[in-house]
Amino acid sequence: MRSRESFLVLLAALLPIVLLSALCWRIADTELHNQLTTAAETAVSDADRFLDRIAAGLRERQGMIGASCDPETVHRLDRMTYESPLVRTVGLYDAGGRLYCTSRGPADLDISGQIGGGRRGGVIVRMGRSALMGTPSIIIDNSRDDGAGINAVADPALFDELAAPLAFAEGAALQVMLGDGTLLRETGQPVSALGAAPISLTRQSRKFDLKATVMVPGSSVWVLFRSDLALFGMAGIILSGALVWVTTRRVTDRQFLSRGLKAALRRRELEVHYHPLIDIQNDRCVGAEALIRWRHPARGLVRPDLFIPIAEESELIIPVTRWLMNRVRDDFEGVELPREFHISINLAPVQFRDTVIVDDIRAIFSGRNLSPAMLVLEATERFPIDDAGRKVIDALRTMGPGIALDDFGTGHSGLAYLQKFHGDYLKIDASFVQAIGTDAVTRTVVDSIINLARDLDMEIIAEGVETVGQLEYLRKRGVPYAQGFLFAQPLPIAEFEIYRRTNPTPVAHCLPTTADVPVAAVSPA
Ligand code: C2E
Ligand code: CA
Ligand code: CA
Repeated sequence: MRSRESFLVLLAALLPIVLLSALCWRIADTELHNQLTTAAETAVSDADRFLDRIAAGLRERQGMIGASCDPETVHRLDRMTYESPLVRTVGLYDAGGRLYCTSRGPADLDISGQIGGGRRGGVIVRMGRSALMGTPSIIIDNSRDDGAGINAVADPALFDELAAPLAFAEGAALQVMLGDGTLLRETGQPVSALGAAPISLTRQSRKFDLKATVMVPGSSVWVLFRSDLALFGMAGIILSGALVWVTTRRVTDRQFLSRGLKAALRRRELEVHYHPLIDIQNDRCVGAEALIRWRHPARGLVRPDLFIPIAEESELIIPVTRWLMNRVRDDFEGVELPREFHISINLAPVQFRDTVIVDDIRAIFSGRNLSPAMLVLEATERFPIDDAGRKVIDALRTMGPGIALDDFGTGHSGLAYLQKFHGDYLKIDASFVQAIGTDAVTRTVVDSIINLARDLDMEIIAEGVETVGQLEYLRKRGVPYAQGFLFAQPLPIAEFEIYRRTNPTPVAHCLPTTADVPVAAVSPA
């Protein structure tokens, strides 16, 4: 296998694995991000839900602020400790910061430090050491503008028990923090156990000044990636195997064709078929295009578009064309040919790189029945009009063959290319001809190509004429020549000679019509 082919097979093997790995990484990354988001949002919504319920209870009891601490007041405060399982005590304090009444009974405690912050009016949440319980607690205050208020003291340990647990396969840490940086809740792994560069995600509460941060070790995305790869890896291996199989087949197919073509030249498996060229203004067959055929012993007739590109790549096209030209010369040796008779020969772009083709034509056709002047050499728009190309064209012209631009309209070259080309014939590609009568835009393109060719003094050959409608359209616009299945399929020499001599052509007297006639109805046998 050559290095280009080996590279293709290697690419086929690696591409699915590389793409699948990239896909698995992306899935793992998204998966981790989603898990972190869900955990942080759940923690925020748990905190919001618990605190909101307590805050709502305090707002409901706003009217109690300043009330005397009688049994009824104590009872009402105590009811709140049942409403929320987090709440341990509820108390009323006066504008001076003295807690005078609690859910446990009357009290007399200075909690001015605990209320702190100087903020008065509305609900605020803070972490502090409860004066009544003496332990770190969550304190939710609802104070009036004068400083008196009602507050609830909640147990952070209970908060953690009642909230949704942190669901992570790999060790993660969760911290719920108040705006002042104090920790409301901490669960999962200790942050110090997460390694040097943990991945973290934070969500902010919209109701309270708090946020939840979830952290996992930096390696977590790798762990997910590995498990995703284990899941999809088999698909990647199968895909890679299938691609290697297809590529190897294609590569060996090309090698098989390339090697086989060399042998075909020796074994006389190549044939030439002649596709009649019709003068459609005078209904006469005035020549033919020589088209190569490969009658493969095992594969049957191999289409030229399968092996010609391979022959072009390997420059095998040079001996193939040489063989074809010898065959063409021999086929017409000793045959009486009218003066205007032409045989078209297709040349590949590589054949315009040096003058080998000039020498070949001279050696094969000079002084023969089919002289060089009776040839038309077809080049496609892939032919490079550089110095070397120009030199070959000029040398060819001195021997007399006509030059045609084949498949015009399918390449990307425009008017500038056409002006530099200096051809005698312009072949309108079959795709444009076959759209006549079906597509108004393409019809306009056909008309423009006809006008362009006239302006540049080039004769037009319309390719791929299949219906009488197309023929009449071209005829009316003064197109001189056409080829196509309407007249004939490419024919072996014996059949072509019969066809050529039975003038006029089978469609010579067709009346102008817009109806399309099926090919089979007018093709000669
Ligand atoms: P091309 O030069 O454009 O040749 C015309 C192709 O169109 C031929 O196919 C011909 O059979 C087909 N054709 C002609 N009339 C019609 C029609 O009315 N309808 C349809 N659908 N097709 C039509 P073929 O013989 O298979 O040749 C394919 C291509 O192979 C040729 O295209 C040419 O580029 C290349 N080729 C053939 N022989 C040679 C050769 O000796 N040398 C080089 N370099 N290329 C060749
Ligand atoms: Ca051609
Ligand atoms: Ca063509």
